[in-house]
Amino acid sequence: FKARFWALTNQKSVCGYCGTGCNLTLGVKDNKVLTTVYDENQGFHNGQLCCRGRFGYQFINSDKRLTTPLVRKNGSLTEATWDEALELVAARLKDAGSSAAALATPRLTNEELVLFKRLMETAGSANYDHSAGYAHAALTEGFARSFGAAASPATILDIQKSDLLLVIKTDSYETHPVIGFEINMAVKNKGVKLNILSDKRGKLSKLPDAQTLVHTPGSEIAVINALAKTILDDKLAAGTAAAIPGYADLEKALAGFTPEAVAGQSGLTASAIKRLANDYAKAEKALILFPIGNAYPGHNADLASAVANLALLTGKLGTEGSGVLCMAEKNNSQGAVDMGFYATSGLNAGQIMDGCASGAIKTLFVAGENPVVSYPNRTAISAALDKVEFLVVSDLFMTETAAMADVVLPACSFAEKEGTFTSVDRRVQHIKPAIGKIGQSRTDFEIFGQLIAKLGGQAPATPATVFGEIAASAPGYAGMSYASLGETGAFAPVAVTAAFVVPKTVAVEPVAGKLALVTGSALYHNGTLSQFGEGPMHVCPEGYLELSRTDAAKLKIQENDLLNVASAIGSTKLKARITPRMPEGVLFSPYHFGAAAVNQVWSGAPVTWVTVTK
Ligand code: SF4
Repeated sequence: FKARFWALTNQKSVCGYCGTGCNLTLGVKDNKVLTTVYDENQGFHNGQLCCRGRFGYQFINSDKRLTTPLVRKNGSLTEATWDEALELVAARLKDAGSSAAALATPRLTNEELVLFKRLMETAGSANYDHSAGYAHAALTEGFARSFGAAASPATILDIQKSDLLLVIKTDSYETHPVIGFEINMAVKNKGVKLNILSDKRGKLSKLPDAQTLVHTPGSEIAVINALAKTILDDKLAAGTAAAIPGYADLEKALAGFTPEAVAGQSGLTASAIKRLANDYAKAEKALILFPIGNAYPGHNADLASAVANLALLTGKLGTEGSGVLCMAEKNNSQGAVDMGFYATSGLNAGQIMDGCASGAIKTLFVAGENPVVSYPNRTAISAALDKVEFLVVSDLFMTETAAMADVVLPACSFAEKEGTFTSVDRRVQHIKPAIGKIGQSRTDFEIFGQLIAKLGGQAPATPATVFGEIAASAPGYAGMSYASLGETGAFAPVAVTAAFVVPKTVAVEPVAGKLALVTGSALYHNGTLSQFGEGPMHVCPEGYLELSRTDAAKLKIQENDLLNVASAIGSTKLKARITPRMPEGVLFSPYHFGAAAVNQVWSGAPVTWVTVTK
């Protein structure tokens, strides 16, 4: 820290890491963000921030920031002018037309996402997605089918107003720490009951009287179905449930999900399942929290539907302290859904990667994503990106994906731009620049607008103009303007309809001699920013493999041993971390490290079976 507090200029902003949407004040001097300034009057969280929000901002002024456009010449990325780089990108987008595709980080502002979509449409392509194809299907499909809206029918403020929290497959202390603080306060100060359903124990499980049910990996939907079945059998359903469309189909589909039947495959006891179902249904107000992220590709939508069924069956929806809150991973994941930046008629993220591999996609524009590290199956992703004829990356840093590109465009961080972000609970918040742009970098808003103009389209002049369009078209945003959002933002209300949807379950059969690998976030999310922040890197500097004491003893593994981890798709080396929270036979590894990358072995299935040797 290199300045006195009184020498700083303060700029109020919104944290750029996770979807909690915490407010913060950036302390600036000499065009550098030097700190975040504690302000107890700021936000629903009274100024509290987690490690990422408080100490993770060195990436903004990192000397590793990209500062000039780069164009590949004779095999090497070479400094170029903006005009040369953008002319090339525009020409390749135009040539590719419907064979062009785009992947965006949900850390772009709403206004940038709208412009990126418009750029692709101007080029003639409907192939655009954020991490939706891998993660966000829970909202775009699951909630849309069950609630008629791709948004959570609850807010973070409901946590402390509830009587019972059911937290599914997440440790909010790791993924959304300030939501973890809210849970902590609800439990300790308000006596809210805490139930956790997960494939491993986390920090939340240490809260007083927390009831944690640890199920076998992949069996979570079956367990939730068994909760629903118990609610029906024990006559705990709300009087309104039978009138909801799909009730008869759900009742029929749940016949095989008795607690006794599910107990065997899930590793839980039937009595524990029945106890949880009764506690949830009998609570006057109950809130379900569950995550989405790259950790659960493939069955997010069904997990969302299963969760929604519980709330619909018991009528715990639409009232204070009740509902379902889906904790989107990145700071504008909900905004990306609201702006429609996901596949509708075109290809989703996974299909775009397949298209790159097959040659069907000719030009790929990746804005702020790092698929080589954060998508499953690194070998296949790298091969696909190697195959695509023309790869453009806009980013703050020379990521593993940017290093493969034909053109690299230096983009701006949230601290250098204006726009809006939408939190997990649809709080729309306005950010303004705290510092000037670094080097020759441009905002993605400028980059997309300039490309639209080069393709002959009409580029809006300012983010405010685009936000006016958003307010006129995005459900729930009507009447909003930058002026009306002020410093506190405004909620975009969710209009919910209801339908029961029968979720698909996955059959996860144990494989003899192998261990079940699950992945997820450990403090970092996908690491594109946090790996350039000193605070998070101090706490957790590298990838690791977490395993139980029992498995460690069986395999004669000591803490920090370097392990060979192999699956059907590849192998990697990870350091051992032995903890009491892992059940026997289950391994965990965070997915966001470029080196010692677990996506060398992680296939993207709900469970990847691996062997571990020293
Ligand atoms: Fe930022 Fe999320 Fe931490 Fe809040 S909880 S400070 S939004 S990373």
